[in-house]
Amino acid sequence: MSGAAARAEQKTPDKHFTIEGDLCTGCGLCEERAPDNLELASGDEVARVIRQPETPEEVEACTEAADYCPTGGLKPDDD
Ligand code: SF4
Repeated sequence: MSGAAARAEQKTPDKHFTIEGDLCTGCGLCEERAPDNLELASGDEVARVIRQPETPEEVEACTEAADYCPTGGLKPDDD
């Protein structure tokens, strides 16, 4: 593996997500897509970010979850 590839693999993804409580309807789709990062706890009406993504796979899962969010309540912070 080249040095550049090794550095790219080790780089921590710098993408954060937030859930706007006003927009979240508690449908739970985001938790299904990214269960390691997003949670709709039983009894809660609004999902929450339990841990920001730390790997490219988690970034992808959270990005997909944001794409599937029907209300736009889950967003990457850079949006
Ligand atoms: S997908 Fe969107 S509306 Fe549904 S629980 Fe997650 S943040 Fe809330």
